[in-house]
Amino acid sequence: MANVSIRDLEIDFGNLRVLKTLNLDIAEGEFIVLLGPSGCGKSTLLNAVAGLLDVSAGQIWIGDKNVTWEEPKDRGIGMVFQSYALYPRMTVAGNMSFGLKMAKTPKEEIEKRVAKAAKILQIEPLLGRRPSELSGGQRQRVAIGRALVRDVEVFLFDEPLSNLDAKLRTELRVEIKRLHHELGSTMIYVTHDQIEALTLADRIAVMNGGVIQQLASPKEIYRRPVNRFVAGFVGSPS
Ligand code: ADP
Ligand code: MG
Repeated sequence: MANVSIRDLEIDFGNLRVLKTLNLDIAEGEFIVLLGPSGCGKSTLLNAVAGLLDVSAGQIWIGDKNVTWEEPKDRGIGMVFQSYALYPRMTVAGNMSFGLKMAKTPKEEIEKRVAKAAKILQIEPLLGRRPSELSGGQRQRVAIGRALVRDVEVFLFDEPLSNLDAKLRTELRVEIKRLHHELGSTMIYVTHDQIEALTLADRIAVMNGGVIQQLASPKEIYRRPVNRFVAGFVGSPS
């Protein structure tokens, strides 16, 4: 577990300023949802925390470490994307252990961690299968499993359920919530889905145009939106 602190963060792509002096403090073990319409900068913010792009100004802290210029692998984060990005030729177990093998983790330790993650995600019977033999929901569980085995401090999710049908989405939402309770890890979760945000979050950061419009609990956001954009976007009664 670690807290995450985003300080005066600016991100430019060429002449386009995508994040505008953004500040966000996330507590240890908190489940934060970044909610907003397509193009508002959610993935950019998440990718910046992950270290997948260079920041133009500002700092990112994870725990007591300034990670602004640290390699992704040294940040103690695990990321789950919308597209599963599993290795097609490897089994589920192979996909889950790949990162650990690269990090030269001892074999017995890898087996122990994969077994534990598989149990938590209820994918034990799938460990010998290949991604092509899995449903969308199962693949997404494996993708979560890959982050889980690495014992990370902070989980980053970028629209992990967007490619799934409504029934699976609900099912996995419950699962992710349970995972958060069980692990107590800090989680930053990106979505454009209001229901997902309202049901998962400890606090929601509603974003628009590269700015956080409101940061508050789901109840607060729903009952007391600070402006018309937030009210419209979360569907508060007017
Ligand atoms: P969201 O995840 O909220 O849909 P993004 O963070 O992906 O939004 O994108 C925010 C804005 O930045 C969009 O206008 C998008 O077109 C632009 N953008 C994202 N990535 C790049 C990039 N690599 N180069 C140029 N523009 C980008
Ligand atoms: Mg996005």
